[in-house]
Amino acid sequence: MPVSGLPPYDTQNIFARILRGEIPAGKVYEDDFAFAFNDINPQAPAHVLVIPKGSYCSFADFSASASDAEIAGFIRAVGKIAKDLGLEAPGYRLLANMGEHAGQEVPHFHVHLFGGRPLGRMIPG
Ligand code: 5GP
Repeated sequence: MPVSGLPPYDTQNIFARILRGEIPAGKVYEDDFAFAFNDINPQAPAHVLVIPKGSYCSFADFSASASDAEIAGFIRAVGKIAKDLGLEAPGYRLLANMGEHAGQEVPHFHVHLFGGRPLGRMIPG
């Protein structure tokens, strides 16, 4: 369910279409709670998007409305994907854009997983 004051979930958003298999994506991982694929415009040698299987618009929506099992399953999947990609030893960065000020473009909650090189400052400037 959307958070009060935010728009409802758009079932035609691009990640919903990827989840339904209507649009191809470079799949990295899938389980009951999460689906992961390579970002179409990578910002690092490894740039994976991890999304929950459920219909959540944003982190605000997911954190407020997803079940404990969905949240635990999703977070465990993010950790497993990073480990399986060999990113634990060198390190990696997770990022979730929420809403207008963060520049969230796709209204299905997603975590960016970046790695493969030193990633610099957390926020430029
Ligand atoms: P946001 O700004 O919403 O946090 O990030 C959206 C991300 O989705 C961007 O990094 C963008 O490159 C990626 N993206 C947008 N459309 C597609 C697509 O059709 N396929 C894939 N694989 N990534 C996409």
